[in-house]
Amino acid sequence: MRRANRLTLTGEVAHRHEADELLRGPGTAVLVNRGVQRSLVIACPDGCGDTLTINLDERAGSAWRFYNDRRGASLFPSVWRDNGCRSHFIVWRSRIYWCDWEDDVLEGNDMALEDRVHKMLGPKFISYARIADHLGEVPWAVLVACNRLVSLGKAVEGKGTDRSKFKRPS
Ligand SMILES: [Zn+2]
Repeated sequence: MRRANRLTLTGEVAHRHEADELLRGPGTAVLVNRGVQRSLVIACPDGCGDTLTINLDERAGSAWRFYNDRRGASLFPSVWRDNGCRSHFIVWRSRIYWCDWEDDVLEGNDMALEDRVHKMLGPKFISYARIADHLGEVPWAVLVACNRLVSLGKAVEGKGTDRSKFKRPS
């Protein structure tokens, strides 16, 4: 079965049980929203037939963040199933990136954002997710900007417990 590489929202409902009938195959998703975003129900994009319920509500435990703007839908952090098909994927701007496929790297080119991210970097390591919170951006976009700044020699990434954190080169 071919894995989906797009996330397609097919509807929004108030209750979890109303979501299933709106799913339309691998990679389709329904938002459960009742005043606040409760969950995102996804037909597993690898086509295994399972339905994933991604919690978006902090009051119900560890929660993902869901972004939906003119550039598409994004989910942070990645989804990594610890059972069933064990799929591991990232959703960014409605694209699904498969984490077990090393050619499937996040790509973008946003020099204005790179500039804003660069200004946030100092002598101490800061995580890209925190920078994203400060800037009101999707963390994946900030990660792409950080990686580009590293490739340009304008930032360095930490190692070990400082992995995924960035600072200015000293
Ligand atoms: Zn699956």
